[in-house]
Amino acid sequence: MLKITPNPATWQPQKWDDVVGNKALTEYLKEMVWNVRKRGAKSGFNTMVRGSSRSGKTAEITLAVKAIGCLKFDDKSLDPCGMCQHCSSLNHIAGTLGWEEFANILEEDEAPTPIRYFYSPIDCPNVTESDLAELIYRVRIQDRMLKLIYLDEVHRLSRRAMDERLLKTLDGDFPAIWLASSANAGVDSTQKAGLDPMFCKRFTTSIETQLPSIDELARWLGLRCQEFDLKVDDPRRTLTRIAERSNQLPGLALQILNRAYMSRNRVVSATLVEDHCFAAS
Ligand SMILES: [Zn+2]
Repeated sequence: MLKITPNPATWQPQKWDDVVGNKALTEYLKEMVWNVRKRGAKSGFNTMVRGSSRSGKTAEITLAVKAIGCLKFDDKSLDPCGMCQHCSSLNHIAGTLGWEEFANILEEDEAPTPIRYFYSPIDCPNVTESDLAELIYRVRIQDRMLKLIYLDEVHRLSRRAMDERLLKTLDGDFPAIWLASSANAGVDSTQKAGLDPMFCKRFTTSIETQLPSIDELARWLGLRCQEFDLKVDDPRRTLTRIAERSNQLPGLALQILNRAYMSRNRVVSATLVEDHCFAAS
């Protein structure tokens, strides 16, 4: 199999140890993965993840979804293998490859997928009425398949008065796992963004993303530099500065590494770090 060299523009955590910060979210998702894989859970996990953009919400949810479908799942570490057909076909939801409505569900005789599931990542700012109708139809089908729905940027549904449509389906009558993320931090701002309180209440938990400390992020950046084969001038100081300048947001810090990665000498220098202007997210 062709080994893809990681690069900072499309980097995604491949295992749980790759995640920095977000301890509560990691713990929740690992419990979810374990319960699905070891106990066959098909419901009982519904969570709204709130936090700044670039704090790693979607990337971590993608990792959990891969672990659920992985054909060579490691049940000790709960890591997906990253190589099997399922792992390699699910790169899309947070990457640069655009969105796919549904994961490719293989028939049992085609591939012995240990968990047969219907997975639907919903890009809430762009979802159409008919996409939602299709989703509701699929969730209501009474079969034994696990249904896993991810509502990205869920606050954008309310602006379009579409959250009401999902309310009934979010009820316990239709077993499914619902994960939602919102870049609006805190309950108040989510309400300001207009999400129906009834809709929010259907999620049994709400998790705030947690930013890594400066030191944690600097250490993590050191590991990424090795992975991307980048040289760093005065690593301790430079990596600490990246962590500070990016307001401890891993996604923003990667933008600086990407600058170095795209340069001729592939060096992360103090000047490059200080001169970097962050692209608007
Ligand atoms: Zn796999």
